[in-house]
Amino acid sequence: MSRQYITTAIDYPNAAPHMGHVLEKVLADVMARWFRLRGDEVRFQIGTDEHGIKIQQTADKEKLTPRQLVDRNVPIFEELYKKLGISADVFIRTSDEKKHWPTVKELWKKLQAAGVLEKRTYTGFYCAGCERFLTKKDLVEAMCDIHKVKPQEVKEENWFFKLSEETEWLKKLLKKEYKIIPQFRENETMALLESGLEDVSFSRPKSSLTWGIPVPGDEGQTMYVWCDALTNYISGLGYFTDHEEKTWWDDATVTHVIGKDIARFHALIWPAMLKHAGVKVPDQLVIHGFLTSEGQKMSKSLGNVVKPDEVLAHFGGNPDPLRFYLSHEVPVGNDGDFSWKRIDEVYVSKLGNQLGNMLNRVLVMLKKENTDLTIPAAAEDAAATKKQWADFSEKLDAFDLHGALQHVVTGVDAMNRAFNAAEPWKLTGEKKIEALSTFAECLRHVSLMVLPFIPGTAQKMAMQLGLPYADAMLDPAFVLTDALKQWNGVKDWKRVGEPAILFPPLEKKPA
Ligand SMILES: [Zn+2]
Repeated sequence: MSRQYITTAIDYPNAAPHMGHVLEKVLADVMARWFRLRGDEVRFQIGTDEHGIKIQQTADKEKLTPRQLVDRNVPIFEELYKKLGISADVFIRTSDEKKHWPTVKELWKKLQAAGVLEKRTYTGFYCAGCERFLTKKDLVEAMCDIHKVKPQEVKEENWFFKLSEETEWLKKLLKKEYKIIPQFRENETMALLESGLEDVSFSRPKSSLTWGIPVPGDEGQTMYVWCDALTNYISGLGYFTDHEEKTWWDDATVTHVIGKDIARFHALIWPAMLKHAGVKVPDQLVIHGFLTSEGQKMSKSLGNVVKPDEVLAHFGGNPDPLRFYLSHEVPVGNDGDFSWKRIDEVYVSKLGNQLGNMLNRVLVMLKKENTDLTIPAAAEDAAATKKQWADFSEKLDAFDLHGALQHVVTGVDAMNRAFNAAEPWKLTGEKKIEALSTFAECLRHVSLMVLPFIPGTAQKMAMQLGLPYADAMLDPAFVLTDALKQWNGVKDWKRVGEPAILFPPLEKKPA
């Protein structure tokens, strides 16, 4: 049995969560669920990055303390993820002085002891929007390329991490031990390395940054985001304290799921920090793209910001249409688009008309027969099922959520056509039962394949099919055994349950 430690980026709670947060959490959640179903031991961590100037400034504007602001906003994130069915085991907060700070402070001391931190007087270009010092590469015509503003010229004392010395080591690391997924994102990172790395600012004077973790032994300085935020991945495991859970790092496959905007910090700064602290580097970095809205960048000024809660409400609180949409429409690594029209189309065509109808037609007819299932032991069905599972698993194992789900959708489409061609309503007797039972068995496999993507729906399907294991399906300990993946693999399955509409018609259009 292998062990998986999977994490997402920690969210910055100076405003409400947006669809980008949701895309990332759903991606990681599908994988965490897949790992569990595969029989791996899994630890899945998410959390919030709560320090920094933007939090300080937002709090000032709202006449709150930074502490009050984060304590108000963080529960909004936690609640949303609960509603989305994100199956995280741990939620870490960087403002948690008991759980997070001790590891961060120890890590700082280790880096200092290793001689990779150095205090320097520094003149830099600081972008408050990015909340970091920009390098020459970030500047286009002396402006921040993301925020299109002239950064502030700042002269101050900073601790620096000597990242420039790590270039050659990182090149080797990223070619071998630390895998970036997908491949084209690795190429981008390698190109960054080719142009050489600069040292990075690791602290700021307390006078300019008060809301953060004080630098050990230099209380006039506050830690800057890197040592504070990146460290969450091991502070959640209690590293460098008396309750270290090293087995989730040393003996696990460590996977960080993050957005393309912060990829280079995870690819370059983080492993270098770990190396000098004597900690194993992570195994994989899965980089996702951004989500646009109706084909345009989501922004407040364009008024096209999609609120995750609105999408949930549109589908009556059911998170599965959104989970399905993001997995189906956005290949991991690429940018994707959220469109109300498209999500309704996907809901109606793929979920309602294909999956929902197929299940309903088969169940209604079987129910009428009022008899036990007879699944024929056809060798070609058994072989086809084995191949289906192999292809599906191979795609999910490689973080190709889109490809895996596409595989299932194509299968359901073929099933609909086969059903119409077989015209089971014209059959009688045992022939009819066998034909319908065959479709029911196919749908059983579909319900297991969609389980990591749309867990609630998968369980409803299994309940309607009358599967004996349906109740246990959402249990983290539920594993896809060989028997479950086999054709006619559930011997004590005799009768189907009550059919019900899986995806009710949409009542209202979004505003
Ligand atoms: Zn900026």
